[in-house]
Amino acid sequence: MMTGSEYIESIKCLNMNIYCMGEKINSAVNHPLLQPSLNSVKATYDLAFDPNYQELMVTTSHLTGHKINRFTSLHQSCDDLIKKVKMQRLLGQKTASCFQRCVGMDAINAVYSTAYDIDAKKGTSYLDNFKKFVIMCQDNDLTVDGAMTDPKGDRSLSPHQQSDPDLYLHIVKRCTDGVIVRGAKMHQTGACNSHEILVMPTISMKEQDKAYAICFAVPTDSEGITMIIGRQSCDTRKLEENSIDTGNCKYGGVEALIIFNDVFVPNERIFMNGETEYAGLLVERFAGYHRQSYGGCKVGVGDVLIGASALAAESNGVEKSSHIKDKLIEMTHLNETLYSCGIACSCEGHKTCSGVYNINTLLANVCKQNVTRFPYEIARLAQDISGGLMVTTPYAQELNNPITEPYIKKYLSATSAFSVEDRIKIIRLIENLTLGSAAVGYLTESMHGAGSPQAQRIMISKHGNLESKKNMAKSIANINS
Ligand code: SF4
Ligand code: FE
Repeated sequence: MMTGSEYIESIKCLNMNIYCMGEKINSAVNHPLLQPSLNSVKATYDLAFDPNYQELMVTTSHLTGHKINRFTSLHQSCDDLIKKVKMQRLLGQKTASCFQRCVGMDAINAVYSTAYDIDAKKGTSYLDNFKKFVIMCQDNDLTVDGAMTDPKGDRSLSPHQQSDPDLYLHIVKRCTDGVIVRGAKMHQTGACNSHEILVMPTISMKEQDKAYAICFAVPTDSEGITMIIGRQSCDTRKLEENSIDTGNCKYGGVEALIIFNDVFVPNERIFMNGETEYAGLLVERFAGYHRQSYGGCKVGVGDVLIGASALAAESNGVEKSSHIKDKLIEMTHLNETLYSCGIACSCEGHKTCSGVYNINTLLANVCKQNVTRFPYEIARLAQDISGGLMVTTPYAQELNNPITEPYIKKYLSATSAFSVEDRIKIIRLIENLTLGSAAVGYLTESMHGAGSPQAQRIMISKHGNLESKKNMAKSIANINS
C-alpha cells in the first residue's frame, strides 16, 4: 500500500492535461485551488496506516492474498459491504468533504460482476482483462476515477440518434490491437487526483448503440485526454492561504469535465465492447453501490456539521435552550436515518454469480432518495442555529487591520469560552458546508450524485414489488380474485 506522501508523489509523476481557471496545468499537485481535494484523497491513504483504523481501511485481496487498501477491494461478504460504509463515514468525519476515491471502488465492483456475466453468456474473456487491471490497481494502490456520466445532448434521443455523435462516448475506429474512442464524461469527481479512469456506459442501450456500449480503463495522462476543472461556489477562498474564511482549512472535493479526443484503448483494457444488453445492468450495479456509499460519506460530513452547529450554539451561550437541543436531536435523527439505510442495504446484500457481493438494490435506492432530502434539512437547521452572522461576518483580513481588529474583537465577542476568532471559524465552517465549496459535495452532490432523485424512484418502482403487496392485502381481506 502507498502512504499519503507516496500517493502525492505518484500523482506528481503523471503528466495530465488539466485546465483550471482558464490555464493549462500538468498536475493537481501544488495548485492552491486543487490542493484541498488532493488532501482529501491523501487521507484515504494516510488512514490505512493508522493503527486505529486498520479493520476498516485495510483488507485482503481475494485475487492475490495481498494486503490492500479497502478502496481497491472487491467485496467478498456483507461484512465487507458494511465496513465499506463505516469507512466512508469515517473519511467524511475526517475530511468534511468528498474524498473522491469511492467512485473507482464502486466501479470496479460493478464492472467485475458484469464482465463475469457477459463472459458466462457470450464466451468472451473480459473478466481476465479486468482481473489484471484490478490486481494492478490493488498492488500499486491506485486511485481510479469511475466515469459514467455522458453529456447526453437531447435527452429524448438515444446515443446513435444524437445530431453530434460525440455527446455519448463511443468507438470511432477499430484497430487490430484496440479501439479509438471519442466523447466526454461530465462531473467527474476526483478525476485530476486519480491514476486511472474506468469508463462505463451511462444508460441502457439498444442494438443500434453498439459503438457506445464500451467499458474500458486508461491512465489519466493518456494522449487525447483533457480535463477541465469545474467551478464551485466560493472556490477562490481556497486561494486565501491560511485564512479562516476558507471554513475547511485543509480539505475539499473537485470535479472535472473529461474530454476523450480520439484516445487509444488497447484490447487488454476493454471490459465490454458492443454488448448493449449489459449496459443497463452495469449502470444499475454501479449506481446501486454508489447510492449505498452516500449512506456513509454524507453521514460523516453530517456529523461534522452537527458538531459545528452545537459549537455555534455554545459560542452564543444558547446550548441549553430547549429549541436548540431539539434541533440538534432532529439533525442527529436525520443523519442516523441515512446511516441506517447505508447499513441496511449492506446487511441485506447478496453474492453475485461472480462471487462479488452486491447491495440490496431497493434499500440502496431508498438510502439515496433520503440523501437527496435530509442533508438539506440538516443544513437548514445548521443555518438556523448558526444565526445570520454566518453570512455577514466581515473578512478575515479585518483581524489583521489595526483599525478594524479592535471593533471585530469587541462586537463579535459572545461567551467567554470562545475567542472571537474561534467563533468565526465555526460559522465559516457551517457556511462552507451549507453555502460554500463543500456544499457542492454535501448538498448538490447529495441531490444529483449517483443519479438524480427520479432515477431512484424508477428503481424503487421496479424493485418495490407492488404485486406481492397487493396479494398480501387480498389475502388479509379474504379476496380470492
Ligand atoms: Fe465518495 Fe461520497 Fe465523494 Fe461519492 S460523494 S466519491 S461516495 S465521498
Ligand atoms: Fe459522488
